[in-house]
Amino acid sequence: MSNVVKPMTAEEEYFARENAERLRKIAAEQKQKLAADELEALKKQHWMKCPKCGFDLQTIQFRGQNIDKCMHCGGTFLDAGELELLAKAEDKHVVMESLMNLFSHSKK
Ligand SMILES: [Zn+2]
Repeated sequence: MSNVVKPMTAEEEYFARENAERLRKIAAEQKQKLAADELEALKKQHWMKCPKCGFDLQTIQFRGQNIDKCMHCGGTFLDAGELELLAKAEDKHVVMESLMNLFSHSKK
């Protein structure tokens, strides 16, 4: 019984390395695609749904911003950067007051 392993030629070694590298790349791509698919599925499930109660969110235009409002639980949600824009407004007290008036239904 011979345990002698035929040594790889430099060329064989090169192709073996190339092949391993190719397989590693394919696996990495598959992993990435899976992550992207999962993110996409997650987004589909949650897009424009209230994070608190799961109802559909309604988009309300307010001073050029799209504010998402849940008509079920009354939650108000801002996209990234929108709070900063509203907080930066010159007349932020007026902005916050009119924002609250817009959403309150108990007054008057
Ligand atoms: Zn809600």
